[in-house]
Amino acid sequence: MSPVAALSVATAGGPLEPAGIELRPLRDDDIRIDVKFAGICHSDIHTVREEWGEAHFPLVPGHEIAGVVAEVGAAVTRHKVGDRVGVGCLVDSCGTCEFCKDGQEQFCSTGSVGTYNSKGYDGEWTQGGYAQQHVVSERFAVKIPEGLELDEAAPLLCAGITTWEPLKRWGAGPGSKVAVVGLGGLGHMAVKLAVAMGAEVTVLSRSAAKRDDALGLGAVTYVATADEDALGKLKGSFDIIINTVSADLAMDDYLAILRPLGVLVNVGLPSEPYSVRPGSVVGGSRVLAGSNIGGIPATQEMLDFCAEHGVGATIETVDAKDVNAAYDRVVDGDVRYRVVIDTATIPAV
Ligand code: NAP
Ligand code: ZN
Repeated sequence: MSPVAALSVATAGGPLEPAGIELRPLRDDDIRIDVKFAGICHSDIHTVREEWGEAHFPLVPGHEIAGVVAEVGAAVTRHKVGDRVGVGCLVDSCGTCEFCKDGQEQFCSTGSVGTYNSKGYDGEWTQGGYAQQHVVSERFAVKIPEGLELDEAAPLLCAGITTWEPLKRWGAGPGSKVAVVGLGGLGHMAVKLAVAMGAEVTVLSRSAAKRDDALGLGAVTYVATADEDALGKLKGSFDIIINTVSADLAMDDYLAILRPLGVLVNVGLPSEPYSVRPGSVVGGSRVLAGSNIGGIPATQEMLDFCAEHGVGATIETVDAKDVNAAYDRVVDGDVRYRVVIDTATIPAV
């Protein structure tokens, strides 16, 4: 096979540059996907800038992958050539431990394999979806239902499942009051999903800039947290808070706006520790929780729900040449609300 056109980072913090990558020959259970769109997740940026620790270079990021099956291995049964499929943050797991059997491959006891910057069971480093093709075991590709466009579906593979999981786990639905902190890629999906589940949604964003958008997404209340005493006025208001902020957050102030027994779920992953006063969780018996992506069955369930409820990501599509500028715009909180790379624009080298 000739090399596949991809966007690759050579060293920590370096730019994404066109590169040709070799994908493994198809195994019996593999499919080859013609990648059409790849979303830019803030985790891609944390990783290539080594904000979470050392990464392995050269590195092709991308774990929000949407495309069409181009070829299938001899033993593949789940997908066929021409199917629309997606790949998220996981590409392998042991398949036999209690968590894998339960469809929670992200907690695999042997160790799940991430879509990029992860060492596979074959000892090779994985490469992600900013590329024109991707090879993956059929077990880790999900079906993108009719009714969802591939570009708007791509971000569902990470931003969608990551916010779906805690909303489901903690019972978002009719009668529950959900606050979403940070209106970025994950945040805007949390709003759309919680609204579609029937919850009453409030958006907490730093400034007033995203107010109209948030109300357009179905939130009933919008609070600019930079306003004086904005949080003080909300004390004891919410059943569930989904914190999607990629930076530090004043945990005590946000725990205080939960109702007794309420839960604050952190999905944002800043590199520095949070500070929490014990009394902030003990008072009101509040829960401070986290949530890490989601397994393959839940990802399929989320995609089917999205197709049924007409929920796709709100996207800005960029060409390969604009991806480095897009990274800076993500960090500035300037994107409305997920950047998706049109992989056809990645030049061959
Ligand atoms: P994003 O699009 O950049 O959104 C993050 C939002 O946080 C921004 O839009 C902004 O919202 C707010 N924010 C950013 N910097 C801030 C600051 N300094 N202070 C206060 N608020 C700030 O990022 P994303 O792709 O949604 O990812 C969000 C976080 O989740 C990242 O840390 C990412 O690594 C993590 N993540 C976790 C999982 C998981 O499994 N748990 C999965 C994917 C991603 P406003 O402008 O509205 O204030
Ligand atoms: Zn992600």
